Formats: sequence, C-alpha cells, structure tokens
Amino acid sequence: MSVWIEAVCINCDMCAPECPNTAIYRGEQHYQVDADLCTECVGFYNKPACIEVCPLDCIQIGTVVADTI
Ligand code: SF4
Ligand code: SF4
Repeated sequence: MSVWIEAVCINCDMCAPECPNTAIYRGEQHYQVDADLCTECVGFYNKPACIEVCPLDCIQIGTVVADTI
C-alpha cells in the first residue's frame, strides 16, 4: 500500500519533510514515492501526512494512473 504523486507536482518540498518513513524523494521530473517505504502513514497518523500538506492535491491513494505520472 502506498500513495503516488501526479506529474502536476511543482516540487515545492512541502510533503517530503512530513513523511515518517522518508518515502518521498525528488525524482527526475517531480517528487515521487518509494512504494516499498510508504505505509500510507499507518502507525503514525490517521491520514496520509503528505496528502494533508500538498497544496496541489496531487498525491493520490490507490492505483497509479499512467498518463498522470
Ligand atoms: S502516505 Fe505517509 S508514509 Fe506514505 S509517502 Fe505520504 S507521508 Fe510518507
Ligand atoms: S507537496 Fe505536492 S506539489 Fe509539493 S512536492 Fe509534494 S507532491 Fe509535489
């Protein structure tokens, strides 16, 4: 289980410092999530912390939509 980041991400770096699992990193085009590290914040918070802070709402739970990554 993991979240993923859409291509509209503006690399603002709001999300990465909030991640308790250091799962968010800056990819070539935009920030990305290491699915092996992300727990959707289970064990830390009631909601995914990164989604709470993203100003663009471009972090999604569920199946990656290929056209938007
Ligand atoms: S949902 Fe939580 S664990 Fe997953 S990337 Fe976001 S902040 Fe990190
Ligand atoms: S908070 Fe949203 S827009 Fe900012 S780097 Fe993270 S995913 Fe991208």
